[in-house]
This record gives sequence, C-alpha cells and structure tokens, in this order.
Amino acid sequence: MYESAKKIYPREIGGRFDRLSKLATVTLLGLFYVVPWLLWDERQAVLFDLPARKFYLLGLTLWPQDFPYLALLLIIAALSLFFFTALAGRLWCGFACPQTVWTEAFIWMEQLTEGTRSQRMKLDKAPWSPTKLRKKVSKQFLWISFSMWTGFTFVGYFTPIRELGLDIVALNVGGWTLFWGLFYGFATYGNAGYMREQVCKYMCPYARFQSAMFDKDTLIISYDEKRGEPRGGRKRSVDPRDAGLGDCIDCQLCVQVCPTGIDIREGLQYECIACAACIDACDSIMDKMNYPRGLVRYTTEHSLQNATTHVLRPRMFVYAALLLVLCAALVTSMATRTPVILDVIRDRNALYRELPDNVIENIYTLKIINQSDDARAFVVRVSGIDGITLDGVPDQVRVDGGGVLSVPLRVRARRENAYGVREIVFDIEAVDDASVVMAEDSRFIGPTP
Ligand code: SF4
Ligand code: SF4
Repeated sequence: MYESAKKIYPREIGGRFDRLSKLATVTLLGLFYVVPWLLWDERQAVLFDLPARKFYLLGLTLWPQDFPYLALLLIIAALSLFFFTALAGRLWCGFACPQTVWTEAFIWMEQLTEGTRSQRMKLDKAPWSPTKLRKKVSKQFLWISFSMWTGFTFVGYFTPIRELGLDIVALNVGGWTLFWGLFYGFATYGNAGYMREQVCKYMCPYARFQSAMFDKDTLIISYDEKRGEPRGGRKRSVDPRDAGLGDCIDCQLCVQVCPTGIDIREGLQYECIACAACIDACDSIMDKMNYPRGLVRYTTEHSLQNATTHVLRPRMFVYAALLLVLCAALVTSMATRTPVILDVIRDRNALYRELPDNVIENIYTLKIINQSDDARAFVVRVSGIDGITLDGVPDQVRVDGGGVLSVPLRVRARRENAYGVREIVFDIEAVDDASVVMAEDSRFIGPTP
C-alpha cells in the first residue's frame, strides 16, 4: 500500500545544460531577492500593498478596478506555458520552476557542507560523530538562514521591505506578517530541502496534465534506444559493433545524476522534469568513449522513429495567434488606460427636493480616484438636461497622487425639464492634461408630470 521514498543523492555533473541551469537559477533567484529592494520615485518599485488595495509595478499603480489587467496577464502566462510546452516539453519544470531553482540552491549548500554524492551517502550511513554533527549543523544553519531570508523577502513584496527589516530588528512585527514570513520560509525549507522530487511527482498538477499538451513533434529528452541497445560494458578499445553492442555502456551515470531518480532509458516518464542532467552525463561518457554525443538528447518521438518533425503545426499557430491577440489587447489597454476612476453614488434617502422658483434638486457623491503618482486638479461637469447646474462643488477639486476623494454635490434643473427619470452624465477632466477625462452615467429623478 505504501512504500517510503528512498532518499535521492543526485550526482553533480558539469556540462552545457548544467551551466544553463545554474544561469537560470542565479538569474531567477537573484531577481526574487533583489526586486523588492529596488526603488521607483522614492517608493518600492514592486509592492503589492494589500491593506491599501494598490499594486505598484514600477511607474504603474494598479487598483482593484484594474483587476482585468491582472486576469489578462494570468491568461497570457498560462497560454505561454501551453505554447512552450507544446514546442519544447517541460522547459519550465527543468529550468524555471521555483521548486527546481530552490532545490538547486539547497543542493548546492548540501554539497558545500557535506561534499560530493558519495561523501554524502557515506556520511548518512556513518554513526554520529563530531565531524558528522558539524557538517549536519552547518548545512542546517545555511538552509534555515536561507529559508528565513526567503520568507522575509516574500513578505517584502507585500509590506515595504525596508520598514519590515527595521521592524524585525526592533522585534516589532505584526502577527500576520510573522506568520506569512515563517510559513513561506518553512515551505521553502521543507520543499527544497526534503521533499524535492516528491513535490514534482506527487503534488504538482502540471506534471499530470502536461502530457495532454505533448504530441509526437514535441521536444523531449530521450534515450536513443536504437543506437544504445544492446547495452553493456566494454573496453574503450573494443568496437561495439564487433562485440554486438550498442553505444550505451550501462555506466548508470544518467541515473545517478537524475534529481528524480529515474532511468531515462526506460522511456518517457511523467517523473522526468526535463532538467537535461542526463544529457550532460551521457555526453561526458560518449566523449570519453570517443562515440558521437547525443545518445541521450533533446529530440522528438517522430525523429526517434526516423519520421519528419514538424515544428510548425496547427496547435502552435493557434497558441501563437491567441498569445499575440491577448498581448496586443493588454498593451493597447494599458497604453490607453486613463489614470483616473470616477464613481457616482446617488443619495438614496430622498428621491428629489423641490426648491423655490420651480427648481428640482438631486444629491450625489462623486468618488474620484487619482491613479497617478502626482496630485491632480480636476474640473467637474454635468450634462444631460437643459440648464442643469452643479452646486456645492468648487471650480476645481484636488486629489492627491494615489488618493481617493469623495465630493458631495447637489445637481439642479428646472422642473419643466426634469419630469420623471432622466439620464445625466458626470465628467471630470484633469486641469493639467485634457486627455485625462472620465465620464459616468447616473439618473436624475424629478416629479411626475
Ligand atoms: S530523466 Fe534526465 S531530464 Fe529527466 S529528470 Fe532525470 S536527469 Fe532530468
Ligand atoms: S550515461 Fe549514457 S552510456 Fe551511461 S548508462 Fe546512461 S545512457 Fe548508457
């Protein structure tokens, strides 16, 4: 019913894909740890300020009303994943997934403190001794420090990170901040330190449904069975054809370097995260044996069957076209976005008021949200009924950068023009920029004729 997982000791291997993987790890982790420290106009460049319900992205301030942009961005991200998976298999898993990059970093710390694969295996089997204790404590110190810094950085995307740092030094951290920092830190510690490949095998939903995006033209990492079999050991001087052997010398190096502990020679398996470590491993063996590289390589099922691979196929066009349309929609809507929001709330306590001289009055509250970083003055107007006027509103209203202003006002119209329910339009225009305008409909209620 249940078999406990065997600990995997991936062997370190150099090579072109290892260099690519290290570059991806350093770049992505570097971005994660550095970005919250960047400033933009004296405020944090990237900050998801949940209490204030504002997201700062460089010069852009997004409000809850901008949620469609976020939704569009998530759809684009999902479609990009589909596109690249159909094109090049599990590129995301092997080089960019947070689980992969943090595991890489944790394995690096493990190697630094406990040594190579065989030294780590020997250390785990050895009885406790001062040396073993020192190595294990060093590793835990590095892991826990790194995890805590990760938790701190994560919270720093939601709380100004400099103030958060000062609060931590002054031991003045709020309960939720502490909870999320510790939660994210321990999740990193557990997932990258101990669970590792088990997250990919048992927890990640993407591993389960990605095969739906694969076809025989998708780039996969595969062992060339026709070339490699029958496998078997031989001396370098022996010609494998004379010995009736294929190119695989059955050295097991591709298995030893695999972070998920599988044997690529058994075919395409869902556990394979396409990290390409087995390619580097096998290429190094092929070089030693003076055989051509590529016994394990990036290829396609069609190519392995000596059929033609079609990179340009209908699904690629569909994904690409959808991506193009969505990206264009996002860029256009962001470029034409007006940095002001106007809400009109009609006073529901009174239908209308009758004033002397046959004047009817309705009361409203305008909510003006200035989404730009600088304070702005706006002119408020109303239209829709002949002779309609505003009362109680100054010539210009000033709203702070990123601020919200409520403006209570009265709207008046002559009785003969205001019978029944009339549509009226409020509009505001920035004094410094006539292109910053926003209009909002409302209703003006008058007596029945
Ligand atoms: S089989 Fe190769 S590519 Fe797949 S996870 Fe193992 S080492 Fe990485
Ligand atoms: S590394 Fe290459 S030669 Fe060695 S067992 Fe794997 S496939 Fe065979």
